[in-house]
Amino acid sequence: LLDLREVRKSFRTADGAPRRVLDGVNFVLKEGEIVALLGKSGSGKSTLLRIMAGLTPADGGSVSYRGRPVDSPVDGISMVFQSFALFPWLTVQQNVELGLEAQGVPAAEREKRADAMLDLMGLSGFGGALPRELSGGMRQRVGIARALVTQPDVLLMDEAFSALDVLTGETLRTDILELWESRSMPTRGILVVSHNIEEAVMMADRIVILSSDPGRVRSECVIDLPRPRDADSAQVRAFID
Ligand code: ATP
Ligand code: MG
Repeated sequence: LLDLREVRKSFRTADGAPRRVLDGVNFVLKEGEIVALLGKSGSGKSTLLRIMAGLTPADGGSVSYRGRPVDSPVDGISMVFQSFALFPWLTVQQNVELGLEAQGVPAAEREKRADAMLDLMGLSGFGGALPRELSGGMRQRVGIARALVTQPDVLLMDEAFSALDVLTGETLRTDILELWESRSMPTRGILVVSHNIEEAVMMADRIVILSSDPGRVRSECVIDLPRPRDADSAQVRAFID
């Protein structure tokens, strides 16, 4: 689905010196897999996701989605942002409908699909609210609703569960995995950034570790256990340990 070759990215620090964040990242997201991306804070995970989504240009290397180069936001790739990135002046409903608007979905259909997605995220009744009226966890759920409502082919989730309480996070994760396993969402590949090893082991087919200094994919680990997985099972514990 997604193919990254030798992706490089530097930023300029306040004093003008370049800081190399990604230094030749090679990564493939295959059709039908969920991959968890782990790495220390500042290792460049969010930057890498933004590059995959076509939101930030890479300095070098190549990014392709189904064989086509990614150099601007692509229809079919949705992202859940670590910092929610909701438009503060738009209502929850309007925020969720945005992606559908871009796809040219008619208003009545947009409303129906947004309503259904807000229901699924436990936000029914909040469509008319503004983001600032919501708690952090609720905002994160709006961000997830906005990403899922377009039924993306590829879903990029940047710490999508970290702003949620443990119970809500687990419920949402299970919901998404159920949709995925039952094939009732058309999404064919998911990349989740997480700081939580247990979350990664519960969700992913493969865990990829982005090492900092320099930002490169150093190691990976295949989790060859069927889902749903039981967090307390010996096999899952063995991966976590
Ligand atoms: P975290 O786990 O804390 O979310 P991360 O792995 O997502 O970290 P990034 O947000 O990708 O890390 O940042 C990687 C590095 O790039 C950091 O050193 C950060 O300061 C720098 N950086 C990211 N975005 C910018 C930007 N727009 N301008 C300048 N520097 C940036
Ligand atoms: Mg980040």
